Amino acid sequence: MIDMHSHFLPMISREEAFSVDAARAPWLAVEPGASQGQIMVGDRPFRPVYQALWDPAFRVAELDQQGVAMQIVCATPIMFGYGWEPARAADWAARMNDHALAFCRAHPQRLKALAQVPLQDLELACAEATRAKAAGCIGVQIGNHLGDKDLDHEQLVDFLIHCAEQAIPVLVHPWDMMGGNRMQKWMLPWLVAMPAETQLGMLSLILSGAMERIPASLKICFAHGGGAFAFLLGRVDNAWKHRDIVRQDCPRLPSEYARRFHVDCAVFDPGALRLLVDVMGDDRVMLGSDYPFPLGEQRIGALVREAAFLDAAQQRRILQGNAASFFGLPAATPLLQESTP
Ligand SMILES: [Zn+2]
Repeated sequence: MIDMHSHFLPMISREEAFSVDAARAPWLAVEPGASQGQIMVGDRPFRPVYQALWDPAFRVAELDQQGVAMQIVCATPIMFGYGWEPARAADWAARMNDHALAFCRAHPQRLKALAQVPLQDLELACAEATRAKAAGCIGVQIGNHLGDKDLDHEQLVDFLIHCAEQAIPVLVHPWDMMGGNRMQKWMLPWLVAMPAETQLGMLSLILSGAMERIPASLKICFAHGGGAFAFLLGRVDNAWKHRDIVRQDCPRLPSEYARRFHVDCAVFDPGALRLLVDVMGDDRVMLGSDYPFPLGEQRIGALVREAAFLDAAQQRRILQGNAASFFGLPAATPLLQESTP
């Protein structure tokens, strides 16, 4: 199996974070030798985490148990730094990408890295994406928006065009979720706003006409099964047919663009997976666990392996083949036997 959606956070010290942005840069509070810790932002605990987040040897031992041959690792979105002055964010992104490559270096056949970029500055973002690719990253991860700018903003579209031209695959991850004041409890930003953020990113690209500008060669994947996108695509098509303001910038029926996108399969429900495969196609859904967080799939790949409506060839595509081709990984990538649940 190839798991294409997982996160890391390097052992950033409080001093290092505070030297960049005392209020917003994340760091890890972990006692020496401890297996549990906290991601901190300023002096506020952000999320309890465990050793797999920062320790590649520990992670690979867990991947062995899970039967995962390869895992693709990217920044925890709190690391993005999009709100900082561009030069500072560019320096930080390069440092985090070097950490990501170092994280993967001890197990180069098992762990691969996606880069982060200083998305607030087009030139610096393109330069870091290209530099990171040359240094060994196999793609980039970006957030689904930059403050008020959604993915249809010219700056973000130009970044995606750069990625298409340079053959850099892109993972779009929701972050900085909407509706903050009304979603204070029960992890509502993760449960309600994240799927909406992802759908907003996808619809921004479609309804703005940006997909007409972006080369068809762009490889772009949206996390968490594309959030609310697949389930509500019929509603969007209906609106496009009956309201001219929906179709004013979008020349084709929105659903015609769905198969320009890839998604991961982190949807946690067989019925949702079935719909997702129907809408996106079995060649465009990839195993993505969101490991090592509690909202990720705890038995990586189990939803797909236990989906009786998928035949063996479809399962193989979703569990490994689609990611191998999306990221241009060699066909000879050694794959462990899938563990039985
Ligand atoms: Zn994630």
